[in-house]
Amino acid sequence: MDYRFFLFEFCFIIFYSITIGMISDLLIEQIKEKDFQKNFYYVFYIIICIISVIAVPNIAISMSNLLGNTLFGNIMMSMVCLGFGVTQTKFMCSMILENSNNKESYVVNQYYKYKNKRISEIGDYSKLDINPNLSIRINNLIKGSNLKNINLYFIDGDSINGFASIDPENNNNKIYLTAKCAELEWNKLAAIIGHELIHIKRRNNTKLDYVRRIFGGIFLFLVIILCILVSNFLNIYFGTLGDIISVFFMILALYNFIMIIIYSSIITKRYWNQIDELICDNKACEIDGVDVIGMYELLEDLSKEQDSFKKQRWYIKNYIRYFTIVEHPCIRYRARLIKRYKKWNILTYYKHAMVMLWWVVTGRGWIGY
Ligand SMILES: [Zn+2]
Repeated sequence: MDYRFFLFEFCFIIFYSITIGMISDLLIEQIKEKDFQKNFYYVFYIIICIISVIAVPNIAISMSNLLGNTLFGNIMMSMVCLGFGVTQTKFMCSMILENSNNKESYVVNQYYKYKNKRISEIGDYSKLDINPNLSIRINNLIKGSNLKNINLYFIDGDSINGFASIDPENNNNKIYLTAKCAELEWNKLAAIIGHELIHIKRRNNTKLDYVRRIFGGIFLFLVIILCILVSNFLNIYFGTLGDIISVFFMILALYNFIMIIIYSSIITKRYWNQIDELICDNKACEIDGVDVIGMYELLEDLSKEQDSFKKQRWYIKNYIRYFTIVEHPCIRYRARLIKRYKKWNILTYYKHAMVMLWWVVTGRGWIGY
């Protein structure tokens, strides 16, 4: 049999297996509820799935033949299979999450809670009794950052969290912290405020951010062109030795090509959101009044909250790891980076792309949980 059948099947199955896990659990749930109509729908869906599992590789093979059955064509079709698996799984998951009220889907929804907060609770903050000393310290910290028009509010919430709202006109930037933050020791509180200040300074999630991302893509593209030019030059002028060295540049070009596809287009949000968080952790430590130790201790505290993730079922974990867009990378990883604090530089962007790729292939998902 054609080896490509197994290649495409494998790519498709990787993402699809998660769906099958979810379906089996769901069916058990549904039968208990005696909701036959729903059952029928899901069973029907499974039959469709089985057919597509068998058919997808065959379709991919004929497409790959059209592309001349080259290595490039096969890689392209593998990616299509992966994409197809992702889409199917996403569709299935969204169906499950909408239709069932079991605990697991609620846990998944929790990850959206933070996002919803932005929309519904902005401006709806409670007035806390913050002691005057603390407000003076907070004000001094904000002044020290040299950023203007910043107001800080405390909102209800019993977990440690903060977010920034950036005014396009730069007249009324806001930092929201949950009430729980007011109970933190000063160096940790300063760290979380510093982190949000850098979000405002960098104007994250504004137009400028998109411009920055596009430049990132162009930079990668230029690296590819440069690699190809260098390897051509080596081929022509340095004979066999040149050929050997040029392989390195071709691999670099290929790597950058994959980076462009992954990080600059399809899932630009995943990569850049994580980069934003890492930059904010890093540069916050440069603000007067914020120290590396405070930042490290804060992240260590937060990482304990992340431990509840381990108790989830395997397919819920996979769903969160591979399908939901979680803005924040693994907190333990962030803490480790701050522990070995180094100033941010251009190579850090590359390094994080490599780290993400490593997480994805070793089963830790996009966020490294
Ligand atoms: Zn942040």
